[in-house]
Amino acid sequence: MNLTLLGEKLPHSLSPKIHQIVFEKTGMPGTYGLSEISREGLDAFMHVFKAGAFDGMNVTIPYKTDVIPYMDALSPQAEKIGAVNTIKREGTLLYGYNTDYDGFGALLDAHFIDVKGGRFTVLGAGGAARSVLAYLDDHGAEAIVLVSRNKARAAEKIDVSQYTCPVEMIGYENIDIADTVVINTTPVGMYPHIDASPLTPMALNGCLAVVDLIYNPETTKLMQDAKDAGIQAVNGLLMLTAQAVKAQSIWQGKEIDGGLTRYIKNQLSTKQGNLVLIGMPGCGKTTIGRALSKQLNMALVDTDEAITERYGDIPSLFKKGEPDFREKESLVAEETAMMENTVICTGGGIIKNKRNMTKLAENGTIVFIDRPVDAILSDIDHDSRPLLNGKAESLTKLYDERIALYQRYAYLVIEGMGSIEQVTKKIANAWEGRTI
Ligand code: NAP
Repeated sequence: MNLTLLGEKLPHSLSPKIHQIVFEKTGMPGTYGLSEISREGLDAFMHVFKAGAFDGMNVTIPYKTDVIPYMDALSPQAEKIGAVNTIKREGTLLYGYNTDYDGFGALLDAHFIDVKGGRFTVLGAGGAARSVLAYLDDHGAEAIVLVSRNKARAAEKIDVSQYTCPVEMIGYENIDIADTVVINTTPVGMYPHIDASPLTPMALNGCLAVVDLIYNPETTKLMQDAKDAGIQAVNGLLMLTAQAVKAQSIWQGKEIDGGLTRYIKNQLSTKQGNLVLIGMPGCGKTTIGRALSKQLNMALVDTDEAITERYGDIPSLFKKGEPDFREKESLVAEETAMMENTVICTGGGIIKNKRNMTKLAENGTIVFIDRPVDAILSDIDHDSRPLLNGKAESLTKLYDERIALYQRYAYLVIEGMGSIEQVTKKIANAWEGRTI
């Protein structure tokens, strides 16, 4: 498969590296080059492409809109956004897609930022903002405020009447982001201008979360200010990798496993990621975690063991009441989340507190080991599981109460049937970007 990235200037593109990894991990032979083309050369280049020079192409600044007239069909997302970043050639026909849309969705999902019924503040009115607006609108956002340095110019570029959700355009002087999730689609704060931020720390008051599409640096000033104020903050690295993996799914004509996106993100990140195991008590997290730590040469932390070491045995802690135990568990979860290259085995109830999970997801891939209740019941040691205490039916009740949360917080769900070795192998494969 012969692919390229079309742009005007492409000095530091990460795309060749990302796509090389996808080729290796999916076993698809291919090349991914860079095509720096001047505006005068664009028309000739598109004709060469159509004639068969490449099988597919990514498109970046400033040509995402200019390539549209060459398309034989557009995906609904590309049509709504008015920009194409991925083209597939079939014979002499060109199909245009916008996978920034999917990448943005993957980023929100991975950090549990709900769109439905949510309120958003989008900074900047450029190309990336249009993908973000389309995604938020399609997924049921309640209200969006678009912040631009120049409202009149922004209104010329973005027709807010096309969205179902109300979109209000304002200037920075009127900004009030209380109770909204802020999405930074401006380049402010990007390397080398790392001390710049589009907002003052004061302006962040009351904000629910910050999503910065910038990925270099990995923690922008805007993100750091948010973190200092205890606000969830995520960067755009996962969006970058997810849009690339989605583009490959389109070119290769098959779904490509989500574990690969995480694997590539970990390869690009300066921080070594954690592998976080969640699941019911007795699903094998601790044993599987130990095996994974050895096999993948990663450190190991078991949050229940860490709690026991620091505060005493868990059945005794539970006697003081579950809230007291959960508070201690959160302290341990927050500390553990800051580690790197560590397999983190969690207690079954860790998912009861969303903050635990947002912290663990910051630098971790969360894997749910979904072992059926019957299988757990056959091998569980009831003495060490205070919430189960001799009652088989309580496990079923717990499962019913928690399954939605396990699924919500899992980046990957691994079917937990089979031997410990088999489940361990499936997780190791996903972690290393191979198909499960
Ligand atoms: P763009 O089309 O140039 O738009 C950026 C917008 O930001 C501009 O239209 C402008 O909006 C605003 N802006 C520009 N300079 C500014 C400044 N100095 N102060 C305040 N606002 C400013 O660029 P883009 O393609 O949308 O990309 C924007 C950012 O998103 C870049 O950092 C890019 O790397 C990132 N991005 C990341 C991903 C990812 O996968 N993570 C994908 C796409 C883009 P107003 O003039 O209306 O204020």
